[in-house]
Amino acid sequence: MECIFCKIVDGIIPAKKVFESDQVMAFEDINKVAPVHILVIPKLHIESLLALSPQDAELLAQLQMGITSVAQKTGVADTGFRVVSNCGASAGQSVFHLHYHVIGGRELALSLG
Ligand code: AMP
Repeated sequence: MECIFCKIVDGIIPAKKVFESDQVMAFEDINKVAPVHILVIPKLHIESLLALSPQDAELLAQLQMGITSVAQKTGVADTGFRVVSNCGASAGQSVFHLHYHVIGGRELALSLG
């Protein structure tokens, strides 16, 4: 198994976990771009947003609730935050296991590009 995030899910690589449900895990990004920078991932290996199907509706609900829980636990629910999922290498995806960056804790620039 070569996927870094699968290894985090399996406990082979350590991570600072901030949330877990039966299908979802959230942990601190190793290379923070803001005071709060958490990755919310499905435990199941799914390559990217494009690999999701209607059968993943329950998983998507858990991912969204994971994002909400992370925002509340870290305090950015009160101060504002951004959720980003890079899809494909040209968009900056470097780990090909679906993940949502939850970023906040400082003033964020308006530019998305
Ligand atoms: P992306 O470039 O959108 O695919 O995001 C991948 C993110 O994973 C980057 O922000 C990396 O800093 C982060 N990352 C890579 N390896 C680890 C790790 N072992 N623990 C936590 N975050 C990681």
